[in-house]
Amino acid sequence: MKITVTVIKADVGGIGGHTRPSDGLLNAVRNIVKPQVRKDGKGLLIDSYIGYCGDDIHIVMTHTRGVNNSAVHGLAWRAFEAATKVAKNEGLYGAGQDLLKDSFSGNVKGMGPGVAEMTFEERPNEAFTIYAADKTEPGAFNYPFYRMMVDTLSNTGLIVNKNLAKGVRINVMDVEKGKVAQLEMWQDKPTLEAALMYPGRYVVSSVYTKDNQPIISASTDRLHNIAGKYVGKDDPICIVRTQKDFPATEEAGAAFSNPHLVAGNTRGSHHMPLMPVKINSPASINYAIPIVSALVFSMHNGVLVGPVDGFASVDWDYIRTIAIKRAIAIRSQGFIHPATLVPEELEYAEGYRARMSVLWSKMRPIPGTKESPHPPHPSKPSQPQPSTPQPSQSKPSDAKPAVPESEKKIQSAPQTKVKKSRKPRKAKSADVKKA
Ligand code: MG
Ligand code: MG
Repeated sequence: MKITVTVIKADVGGIGGHTRPSDGLLNAVRNIVKPQVRKDGKGLLIDSYIGYCGDDIHIVMTHTRGVNNSAVHGLAWRAFEAATKVAKNEGLYGAGQDLLKDSFSGNVKGMGPGVAEMTFEERPNEAFTIYAADKTEPGAFNYPFYRMMVDTLSNTGLIVNKNLAKGVRINVMDVEKGKVAQLEMWQDKPTLEAALMYPGRYVVSSVYTKDNQPIISASTDRLHNIAGKYVGKDDPICIVRTQKDFPATEEAGAAFSNPHLVAGNTRGSHHMPLMPVKINSPASINYAIPIVSALVFSMHNGVLVGPVDGFASVDWDYIRTIAIKRAIAIRSQGFIHPATLVPEELEYAEGYRARMSVLWSKMRPIPGTKESPHPPHPSKPSQPQPSTPQPSQSKPSDAKPAVPESEKKIQSAPQTKVKKSRKPRKAKSADVKKA
């Protein structure tokens, strides 16, 4: 029997900040989704599961309608719309922040919510794990995916499982250009490694066996591309099929046992370690350490059993301790990169540019060098540059700092005008940052 597993997630509001959805909000999602479940296979959905990781709600749906199905995607969209109404009534932070369009148009891809889905011939003992993350970006999965599908030191199954030893097919998306490269293991291994060096741009979107069985599907949308400008990190979610021809459930899980540094966290502007947490955990208010949870399912005829909480066992408490120590270590250097992201990845780019405009306005030629305008910052090539004063003007001791036009605008513009420029995010008050 061919079954499609669709996971759609969105952040439509959090209690007191970017912490977790309220019970009212989760109930609103359930009230839309659950009536569509018929375990005899005659409803829109065969089964569903609803939970959250930090401030992101995930809806797991099983059905026979294939990927990109408008009825299934539309159901999730309506559920998140209903939840947004509740979030607004409850005054939750960032109400509706991931719903970037006013109306549904056939597919939630490109509309804000993240999607991971795959269709496959169900095995008699179908097993898969859903990894849901918060306070980070899709590239956060690059390292664990590499460990589970390529790195034999991390996964002995890649040596002793005949199917895995043949190597897999890994699709890598360039999230800036919206293109995908299909890489064949093992011959393309160094090319894959080159791509995965930069998880902010090159992201594993899916993995297949050499005979085209899907193993991994991951959400890969980046919100700054969807909205036309940077409006936040897209907290990722993925499905990993396990057992038999695929990595063992514990080989996949163990790929998260070395909390690596990922982008995101508070204000979407820092690097911190990815900490495994229990199912339905709120986000940490310790600088929003990035988190990931593991939902381990069995499935038969599309009916789900589970989830088992993959990161609930006592050994993961030790891994959490490692993550916390690393989090404290990198936070100890404050705003100094790489504790903070590179300028073009900062979520608060406007505020950063405002500060840099002041810096640029104070720049003068180095004495004794040929005068030349200070080059624009690479994060904003079109940034208007302050006119470089003539030497006669530039007595630093008594010269008043020239304020460039761009800085004047930032200083004088009322808050609402700056906010207006952040559209098209419709439902989010503009000073709400996604996390
Ligand atoms: Mg949020
Ligand atoms: Mg989130």
